[in-house]
Amino acid sequence: TGFKDFGLDEKLLKAVEKVGYTTPTPIQIKAIPVVLEGKDVMGAAQTGTGKTASFGLPILQNLLKYENASVSPARHPVRALILTPTRELALQVAENLEQYASETKLRVACVYGGVDIKPQSIELRKGIEVLIATPGRLLDHLEQRNTSLKNVEIVILDEADRMLDMGFLPDITKILKELPPKRQGLMFSATFSPEIKKLGQSFLNEPVMIEV
Ligand code: AMP
Repeated sequence: TGFKDFGLDEKLLKAVEKVGYTTPTPIQIKAIPVVLEGKDVMGAAQTGTGKTASFGLPILQNLLKYENASVSPARHPVRALILTPTRELALQVAENLEQYASETKLRVACVYGGVDIKPQSIELRKGIEVLIATPGRLLDHLEQRNTSLKNVEIVILDEADRMLDMGFLPDITKILKELPPKRQGLMFSATFSPEIKKLGQSFLNEPVMIEV
């Protein structure tokens, strides 16, 4: 299997080539077709397996496919939301997504705590399609009405086990309540405790289980 076999947009294939990936990893081979079909996914995968591209490429493809021509370019709503436990992971995921989206018009932003909120607010208010966020800081932005999650089509919980370990469940629950009921959901976790499964069941719709 090569990246061409997934039926990805030329713009994404060009970005993959630029970043130097030649062969998809096992998680990418399993997850990309399922995410492209619009299905929900519960994925068991560690960092280092190529997990980010396994959801990053197909979500960008889904956003390109359902490009909404009626939305004014000045009011780009958040269409894909990726929640991560830490600032380090948020930055790493954002860097990857920016590379994969580099040939498209889709805009990627990243917000996390521990730094001044102002520059992030300005960026969010300009309008972006893909948002990577840590839960607490995202709630701060929602309270300040710097962004809205009403147009989110795809939500991803990355390293869900770490988010629960860090006590983010109440924040995640609040954020999930802001999302439209009809949207695609993906959850990645290195471990699958009963708590993780429960979280998955609470926001995923008949998820496909993917393990590598
Ligand atoms: P991740 O598990 O998403 O953190 O990815 C781990 C590392 O592998 C990152 O540096 C990616 O850029 C890289 N990577 C992801 N997919 C591929 C691929 N198909 N071929 C080569 N490198 C990859």
